[in-house]
Amino acid sequence: MYNSILVPIDISEGDLTQQVISHVQTHAVMNTTKVHFLTVIPSLPYYSSLGLAYSVEMPKMQEFREEVQAKLDDIVKQFKIPANKIQTHVTTGSPKDQILKLADTMSTDLIIIASHRPDISTYLLGSTAAAVVRHAKCAVLVVR
Ligand code: ADP
Repeated sequence: MYNSILVPIDISEGDLTQQVISHVQTHAVMNTTKVHFLTVIPSLPYYSSLGLAYSVEMPKMQEFREEVQAKLDDIVKQFKIPANKIQTHVTTGSPKDQILKLADTMSTDLIIIASHRPDISTYLLGSTAAAVVRHAKCAVLVVR
């Protein structure tokens, strides 16, 4: 049984989320299980190289973050998991690094991730999924 499950969500990809719902429900049965949903806003290399990502130079960033958070909240509702078992996270950066970092911070014992976008079937594993499988310190369930 798992105490802390991390489910990275690519909010631009609805089908991927549909795939993982039943697997998350199966593994989050205990009352004490916490399910962490994370979506990462990939940082714009140019702005972040100038150190501008969070500053007043990008006044729309906060607004954008709130939109992303609202979209994540909508997606999370589809999982039908009691609210007290859920925590959502929105961060900025490299998706794979942020996923691995949060897994460490939350002492995650299971990461549930989709293998890749359905339309990109040439890859066995997408780049984010591959990096997570390779570097995670906990169990990873790859949903195909
Ligand atoms: P592809 O390259 O086909 O998009 P990915 O490896 O990027 O494949 O995506 C597989 C899974 O990785 C997604 O279903 C999601 O769980 C996770 N993922 C990808 N991008 C993000 C992101 N920006 N935030 C959170 N999770 C992500």
